[in-house]
Amino acid sequence: MTQMSDLQTTLFYNGDIYGYPQANALLVERDRIRSIGRYDELRAGLLDGHLIDLNGGCLLPGFIDAHIHLIHTGLVESGWRIDLANRSRAEVLEILAQAATARDGEWVVGYGWDESTWVDRAYLTMEELDRISPHAPLMAIRLDGHLLTVNRKGMERIPAAAPDALIDRKRGLLREGAVSALVNTVKPDRRAMSDALDAVAGLCHRLGITSVHTMSRLEHFEAMMMERSDRKLRITICPEVASFEKLSAVGLKTGYGDPWLRFGGIKIFADGSIGAANAAVSEPFLSGGLGELNHETETLCQWVQKADRSGWQTIIHAIGDRAIEQVIGVHEALGTDASLRHRIEHFELPQRPQLERVKSAGLHLSMQPNFTANWSGSDSLYVDRLGTKRDQLSNPLRLIHDLEIPLAFGSDGMPPSPLYGLHGATQGAYPEQRLTLEEALARYTEGGAYFGFSETETGRLAPGMKADLVVLDEHPLEHPAAIAERTVMMTVVDGEIVYTNGETRTEGRE
Ligand SMILES: [Zn+2]
Repeated sequence: MTQMSDLQTTLFYNGDIYGYPQANALLVERDRIRSIGRYDELRAGLLDGHLIDLNGGCLLPGFIDAHIHLIHTGLVESGWRIDLANRSRAEVLEILAQAATARDGEWVVGYGWDESTWVDRAYLTMEELDRISPHAPLMAIRLDGHLLTVNRKGMERIPAAAPDALIDRKRGLLREGAVSALVNTVKPDRRAMSDALDAVAGLCHRLGITSVHTMSRLEHFEAMMMERSDRKLRITICPEVASFEKLSAVGLKTGYGDPWLRFGGIKIFADGSIGAANAAVSEPFLSGGLGELNHETETLCQWVQKADRSGWQTIIHAIGDRAIEQVIGVHEALGTDASLRHRIEHFELPQRPQLERVKSAGLHLSMQPNFTANWSGSDSLYVDRLGTKRDQLSNPLRLIHDLEIPLAFGSDGMPPSPLYGLHGATQGAYPEQRLTLEEALARYTEGGAYFGFSETETGRLAPGMKADLVVLDEHPLEHPAAIAERTVMMTVVDGEIVYTNGETRTEGRE
């Protein structure tokens, strides 16, 4: 690319501009969109600057992933955590065995196994891990992060503070609070954190993601702050409720920060997951049990009240209908401030009457359509855990959309791909789960911007908005059913090209 001119203008031309059927060009000045229109008109007024040929592709607002775990995904992406996703049981054990040999007595941390895709659908066992790593401590975290298997050496390192009730010492299985207690004892150093953030920013750019809302511990704030503008990824950090006192004591609140790193809401877990069969449901899992509520309603109520009264959005993970009931009930009882855009995360198994109540309470729903693509439909994990009828009622995106409940999409990192999520949102197994691609795209762009209080800056293509852009190889509405096959050709953040897939030509103005 040639030297930027003083004006720092870039004209993207020869392609579609999403939402502007008459336009074929978009002009960026420094970090913002200046105008959208016909190439001839936009070029006429230009003395200098760059020209970028879209090659018939389509320019859209950059994707916003409203629920991701940056550090977690980054540590896998950088190789610090061993990637076990999309592997068979035998492959998982093989990869871990190699790592255990290579690390020579150090902790081996694997992440991403998912027994629901295995023939026997059984969790990894302590015996299996002991066989491949008799001397080094080894933990293998399940894809959903709510459960892990540890070997005997690792079992010895479980901190005393880990809740005993969540540890199955015979099978080497840890759940929920016990998972985080153990995982948090194995900390990457500053360098590993920085590498992880660089790696995850690169991954986001390749996927067309320009902003994220990350569910991350407050202790990761510093690593995110260092070099934040160099990474060119807008981060909204949503810290855990345990850090709330510290944050509010110094007068911080939702929205504080700068264009690269700011505070979102306070993250609270009301229940577990469907995969780990511990989401709080009112009708038992097929394997038995009603799952668990993580907190007494009174405790939840106190947290939400404190947050609400001190200007903090709340972000409450609630998957089962019983957890959803608890969260809605708390908001109803407190009459929380809807202008704080309080969120419920996942919201997978709501009862139909709960939808209306979510709307009346002014709550916002952050959902992950990749979950339906992963685990819903015939012969799926959800059918296995819940039966067909409840699978069919899960993730009712269509109903939520038609009720005009504020809705944003994210991936929870499983996998962090907006195009795959859009596939899930539009091609769910059941009609009540499906949006049109146009509706779904809005949830992956302006939806996330709204949930992060940045809708006047990001999430849409319009003059004056930040130039956070993604170029797809073709207008996505040409072949909506093939959205998962679209290619990200280029990603632009803050007016700067941060990714091209190699085939894109850029040229200076002659
Ligand atoms: Zn999550």
